[in-house]
Amino acid sequence: MQTNIQIHPAIDNPAQFNGGELRCQCQRNPVVVKVTAQTAHNHACGCSKCWKPEGALFSMVAVVGRDHVSVTENADKLVIVDEKAAIQRHACKVCGVHMYGRIENQGHPFYGLDFIHTELSKETGWSKPEFAAFVSSIIETGTDPEDMPAIRARLVDLGLEPYDCLSPALMDAIATHTAAQK
Ligand SMILES: [Zn+2]
Ligand SMILES: [Zn+2]
Repeated sequence: MQTNIQIHPAIDNPAQFNGGELRCQCQRNPVVVKVTAQTAHNHACGCSKCWKPEGALFSMVAVVGRDHVSVTENADKLVIVDEKAAIQRHACKVCGVHMYGRIENQGHPFYGLDFIHTELSKETGWSKPEFAAFVSSIIETGTDPEDMPAIRARLVDLGLEPYDCLSPALMDAIATHTAAQK
């Protein structure tokens, strides 16, 4: 393959996206979280635990290395939604938005990754959603089961393959971790 051919500077060397700032929805004194890397595995999530904006059926959530996440303003407004959950979701206690979810159990397959909602950032260039996870779970939070075929079809139209757990790549990562621990 010829690698010395130059098509366009922006195409040959796409500027690396290095993150941005997440802000909660408080008009005054918002919590600000700085993220210094691109996200991965962005997806629509139908579980009942992830934060989603008013009226949304799914949340949109991605992962990023925990070393790249830091709270820079109004950290005192953050509370952990459920201390016992595998993912400790740090939410603004005033507006309710989840600013980041962190795993403290070092044996967890996704230890080292924080879960964030990049829609809380004004920056563009975050990784795009790739699939839909825990789709059937939206029934638990009130969706009529009869609506599911149309919802799944819509997800497919959007290029978001619907899964009732995580994507095959992430399920394989979990199983690989489990196998390595045996
Ligand atoms: Zn807030
Ligand atoms: Zn979720």
